[in-house]
Amino acid sequence: MKLVGAHVSIAGGIFNAPLNAKAIGATAFALFTKNQRRWRAKPYDPETIERFSINLKEAGYQPEHVLPHDGYLINLGNPDPDKRAQSWHAFIDELQRCSQLGLTSLNIHPGSHLSKITEEQCLAAIAESINSALQETSNVAVVLETTAGQGSNVGYRFEHLADIIEMVEDKSRIGVCLDTCHIFAAGYDIRTRTAYEKTMSEFDRVIGFSYLRGVHLNDAKVALGARVDRHQSLGKGTLGLDPFGFIMNDPRFEEIPMVLETIDEVLWPQEICRLYSLATPKAPAAQRSPQKHKIAVLNPRDEK
Ligand SMILES: [Zn+2]
Ligand SMILES: [Zn+2]
Repeated sequence: MKLVGAHVSIAGGIFNAPLNAKAIGATAFALFTKNQRRWRAKPYDPETIERFSINLKEAGYQPEHVLPHDGYLINLGNPDPDKRAQSWHAFIDELQRCSQLGLTSLNIHPGSHLSKITEEQCLAAIAESINSALQETSNVAVVLETTAGQGSNVGYRFEHLADIIEMVEDKSRIGVCLDTCHIFAAGYDIRTRTAYEKTMSEFDRVIGFSYLRGVHLNDAKVALGARVDRHQSLGKGTLGLDPFGFIMNDPRFEEIPMVLETIDEVLWPQEICRLYSLATPKAPAAQRSPQKHKIAVLNPRDEK
């Protein structure tokens, strides 16, 4: 089945995330493992971990259907060795947090060269950081997100992610997350059936669907190839609704956590319903109707 949700808030405690997801009718969700704008956070206490796993189970989510997102400060491709080491330690901390929560993956933005090294050198630094991090941790896979290519970010070509995967030794713990807004901003069109099939064939040829571990479902505020990262609510942007219908009916996206990072969280329950309504055959009704009660705490904004 198709798994659709959103990047939900962890305000008040990480254990609230599964409840927030359930409340909007999500069948998958994303979350930050800590404050995404700070380097450090205090370790989880055992009670927090326990409450998270109880809530996850009671809300009916499998660990594979949760896609944690790393913090914004981490740059595994930082040209400065000291700063890269700082990022690496923060990255290890996040992998360990995922592991403590019983989760199986961590979605990351690959990194930025800051115009001080080449893209190739940056990709190699990222792969090296991932290799050594995977040796320090167990169980959790690293999921590389496709980027819009804003500023000096790498990851805006499928080839970039393929190059990193190629250099990562343990292929069982590396994957990719396809962000619809980002790939469109990076120049991959998905607005028509023909364009969608062409882009997805290229994704399959260059990276391979076997590495697909997550999807970010976002409409875009910018034009094709603008290389600017601006998300929009579904159907209100330059992508329109058609690409989401293609994805919802594409068997290659079965059982993959697909999460909204759209700009108006009040619309998430409707957006989730809308996505399921685009799918044929339709998902069971229970999975399509969000619960009535309101979400108490809203999400601190992810990528706008
Ligand atoms: Zn992201
Ligand atoms: Zn994203």
